[in-house]
Amino acid sequence: MDTQTCNTCIVCEQPKAEGITIIQAFICTSCELAIVRTKVEDEQYPFFVKQLRQLQVRSSS
Ligand SMILES: [Zn+2]
Repeated sequence: MDTQTCNTCIVCEQPKAEGITIIQAFICTSCELAIVRTKVEDEQYPFFVKQLRQLQVRSSS
């Protein structure tokens, strides 16, 4: 029972203990907040969109 579940965040690709899981994809808390704060005109926005597209790729097999 000492195993701390670490999921790999699909955005920053780092193993994190805290975050949310959406459709088998894990997003860590810090990335979730970053996505929420990012506006469409933000230059980081395309990066997040690209990372989140993996959700569809992974779930379509
Ligand atoms: Zn992350």
